[in-house]
Amino acid sequence: LNDQNLKQQAKKIAKQGKDVQHLAVLGAGIMGGGIAYQGASNQLTTVMKDINPGALKLGMREANKLLNKQLERGRIDGQTLGETLINIIPSLHYGSLSNADVVIEAVVEHPKVKAQVLAETEQHVSQDCVLASNTSTIPISLLSRSLTNPERFCGMHFFNPVHRMPLVEVIRGDQTSEETINTVVALASKMGKSAVVVNDCPGFFVNRVLFPYFFGFTYLIAKGVDFAQIDKVMEGQFGWPMGPAYLLDVVGIDTAHHAGEVMAQGYPTRMAKQQTDCIDIFYQAQRFGQKNGEGFYHYG
Ligand code: NAD
Repeated sequence: LNDQNLKQQAKKIAKQGKDVQHLAVLGAGIMGGGIAYQGASNQLTTVMKDINPGALKLGMREANKLLNKQLERGRIDGQTLGETLINIIPSLHYGSLSNADVVIEAVVEHPKVKAQVLAETEQHVSQDCVLASNTSTIPISLLSRSLTNPERFCGMHFFNPVHRMPLVEVIRGDQTSEETINTVVALASKMGKSAVVVNDCPGFFVNRVLFPYFFGFTYLIAKGVDFAQIDKVMEGQFGWPMGPAYLLDVVGIDTAHHAGEVMAQGYPTRMAKQQTDCIDIFYQAQRFGQKNGEGFYHYG
């Protein structure tokens, strides 16, 4: 399918979806915070729930920062800034989800944690609320086993940074209903994103392409190639916006570590575990990248 066909297909599907007014996001980290900002910027009231008050503060601060940049560039006025911020409702309680049309789960990339959070969420939402996971790699059909209503669940995979990356992968689990897919495609479009609907498997579409690249990069490092040199070539000469070491720091090395495990288990012959050793070493040393100031690079 060419780009035009994909857009037309997404528009057609979106027309059949439920119109979402109230969004909720679980997790206020890099992705949850970004998704909440994107929802609020597109006039959706957006509950942002975390278990850590510090994460909520950080999520609000990031949204504030992004909005102030927009203000400085003359893209929005002060009133829009205020209205957008008010659209984000930080919360520590499941009770705040009762109004949501769609809840997007964006907590840590752990199958067990996600399954538990999704099951708990299901107890607190309305009968027709759709649940979606922003998981990078974990099969949707696996996560749906913890749910009573798996037909109302699918993947909704945004990319980092959310406000800049146009793509959203919508993942159809083995029990996901057509109505759920339509609603989530419509929501992606409402949030200014281009959706592609993909089948379920570890890593879906994008991370089946991206992870072999990361593993190839760590293989080169294990052979003694300087990571900064690899970044320099990929950015400067090859022309990509960032090299693999910097990209891992932006993604979060903890997240890449968890996602790498899912990929290595999902494709044991093609994505051998030993190739992720370098990421494991950074993970064990708690060098998680930009989020805690130390990864491949140092962030002052
Ligand atoms: P993060 O570490 O920045 O944030 C995770 C947040 O989840 C933290 O604030 C944590 O307090 C919160 N949390 C943990 N348990 C919770 C619970 N039970 N209820 C509510 N909140 C809880 O991680 P992230 O990078 O935002 O990743 C979140 C998800 O998005 C993961 O599944 C990841 O694979 C996926 N993802 C990440 C990226 C990326 O580039 N970082 C890109 C696409 C998708």
